[in-house]
Parts: sequence; structure tokens; C-alpha cells
Amino acid sequence: MRRKTFPAGIARPVATPLQPSVVYAAADPDALDDQYKGRSQGWTYSREGHPNAAIVAEIIDEMEGTTGGTVTGSGMSAVMLALLGVARAGDHVIGADQLYGRSLRMMTEELPRLGIETSLADPTDAAAFERALTDKTKLALIETVSNPTLRVADVDGIAALCRQRGILLAIDNTFSTPRAFPALDRGADIVIHSVTKLLAGHSDAMLGYVGTRDAELAERFALLGATMGTTPSPFDCWMAERGLYSFALRYDRAEATAIQLASALAEAPGIRRVIYPGRRDHPDHNRAAELLGQRTGNMVSFEIDGGRDAANAFVRACEGVAFAPTLGDIGTTISHPPSSSHRALSAEARAALGISEGFFRISVGCEDADDLIARFRSAAEAADRVRPT
Ligand SMILES: *Cc1c(COP(=O)(O)O)cnc(C)c1O
Repeated sequence: MRRKTFPAGIARPVATPLQPSVVYAAADPDALDDQYKGRSQGWTYSREGHPNAAIVAEIIDEMEGTTGGTVTGSGMSAVMLALLGVARAGDHVIGADQLYGRSLRMMTEELPRLGIETSLADPTDAAAFERALTDKTKLALIETVSNPTLRVADVDGIAALCRQRGILLAIDNTFSTPRAFPALDRGADIVIHSVTKLLAGHSDAMLGYVGTRDAELAERFALLGATMGTTPSPFDCWMAERGLYSFALRYDRAEATAIQLASALAEAPGIRRVIYPGRRDHPDHNRAAELLGQRTGNMVSFEIDGGRDAANAFVRACEGVAFAPTLGDIGTTISHPPSSSHRALSAEARAALGISEGFFRISVGCEDADDLIARFRSAAEAADRVRPT
């Protein structure tokens, strides 16, 4: 059977077609020359780029104010491109000490193996960051809002420091998103996303993004991605594109509910503390107001009294809320860092971060706020009942 060719038509589809083709045919060698020389636009082999990835890149570029961003197969491959696109053997990279778990591993295990020295410092303290710099430091990697304790980095202080010392600043903007935090306008040179989370928003596509306003660096990320094979699948891009169109609406809705839920939890029985950047009792409240304004996000952390038994009771009673270690889904999810993301740490190391057995993190979704709050309130009551009196 001969392969059939897709018919060209006059009308264009409104919804983006999914284009799974790995390879593209050209008319003749001259046409291919034109394409490689940039005289015509086309595709060759999908690891080098494909239309579904290009559309996702264009959307996120527009959100972040970047050009020529690279979409990758996961958030971690975007982190990898940012780190390896800038640093080489002999360089030093500094990172925040509460980065996403795998990013921490990349800093502490993988980069040193490649001859890139790294150190970690508290990003809420620019002076601590400064003390950790060396004359070899090329890149700093931070997250605006940390996971899961939702501490807010001193982005202005660190950006000023980086500018002054000629260090590139990369911000992983996954938690804050461009809706809350325009990373490049606030001093970042490179912005990174796990598109898997809020941007795509439905827990059915795994993708990352790395972008910058520096054309040369953007080209480096794209080439490195093609060489390292970090290319995303067209299907995931196609799913994410659909999610991206509703991102702003989802974000606003989830954030409005998060604000209400944080207040309701603070009043519920057996809740020791609620951590939310918009609350006055947040340790970085003033900085959050300065950096994020009213955009305090969809993530709420809290701590209940009691140990594992109370934690189990809370999760079991929290009806319809998935107990799952991710964030940014259309539905609310709850995670328990001591048994998931932070289980490898000793109890003492967790305690130093303020993560007890009763510590939870909520990623608020788009459900009806009153109904969601009622479910959390009954979960708090259920946990309160199992506690020894
Ligand atoms: C999830 C996450 C990542 C990694 O993204 P994946 O898409 O899971 O590879 C990186 N940074 C942050 C802040 C994240 O939450």
C-alpha cells in the first residue's frame, strides 16, 4: 500500500491538528536547501522541532515575554537544559536550598559528576547567597515560592547580586506562573517551567519549558535540546495547548478559592498553622506582597496536630480530593511531604524545614469553593477526633 498524502485545503482548522509525524518529506533537494537556509519554513525530523511543540513554545513565550523558548519532554529536562546550557566543567552554580527535589539532586549529584561545582543557600537571605558565590559562579537557580513551605525568595536582592557579579539568574516559575510573577521583568535571565503543572493543568501531559530574552542563549537551549533529545511528544504538546488556553481562568479561580480555603482552615479544629503567602502571619508576608501583590497563588500548606494517625484520618476523610504528589491539576490535590517528596530526609532534617508528620500541601483546583471548604473542614474534624486527648 502506498502512503497517502494529507490533502491541502483552502479552509484552515480552528483547533490545532495533532501532528504525530516523526519525519517530513520535502519536494526536492533545492526545497530542503531553502528550508535549512531559512528561506522557507518547514520541518525535517521531529526531534529537531515539530508544529505542536512550536505552538506551545509560542504561547508560553507570549506569557513570559520571551522569544524562541524551548519546549521539552518534562520540567526536569528544562532544568537540565538551563543548567547545562550555561555551565561547563570548572564552573560553579548556586542553587536555592529548597528547590524541587529532583532539581536539588541535579545540583548535588549530577552536576558535580560532570565537574561543575555547586552550592546551595537560603534564597530568602540574599546575604547568604552572596557568601556562597565564588569567582567561578556562572548561574543561580531559584524558585520564587518554595515547595512545600511556600517561603518567598528575595528575588530582588538575588537579582541585584547576580547583575552586579555577572551571574545569570534562572527562575523556575512553576509555582508562581507568569500570571503572578513576570520573572524576566523582575531580573531573571532565564525562566523555567514544569508545564506539566498549572500551565497545562489537567495532569495528562508532561512537558517543560525554558526561555530567555537573549537570542544566542535561546538558540543554545534549542540546539542542546535537539542534541540531548529532550524533545516533547506531539501528543503532550497538543494536550497542553488546549490546557494553556484556559490557564488564566483556571489560575484566577483556583487562587480565589485558595484565599478562602486558607482562612477557613485557620479556623478549623486541630490546625496548628496555615502557610499561605497572602496571610499576614506568613513569615515572608511583606516580601510576598511586594513580589506577588494580590497574586498569592493556588498552593496552601498547613500543619495539623497529632502524628501519622491523625494525618491518615485527615486524608481518608478529605472526600473527592486526590491524595497525589503533584500540583496544578484542575481538581484539588493534597500531598503529604513527610511520606512523599521529603521522605528521604531524616526526621531532624524535616523538622529543621518545619515539616512534621502533620504537614500537608494543597494544590487548589477549580471546584466550587464552598463545597471544597466544607470537605476540608470535615477532614479537619475527623483528624481532630482520632487524636489522643
Ligand atoms: C514538578 C516540578 C518540576 C519538574 O517537572 P516535571 O514536569 O515533573 O519533570 C520542576 N520544578 C518544580 C518547581 C516542579 O514543581
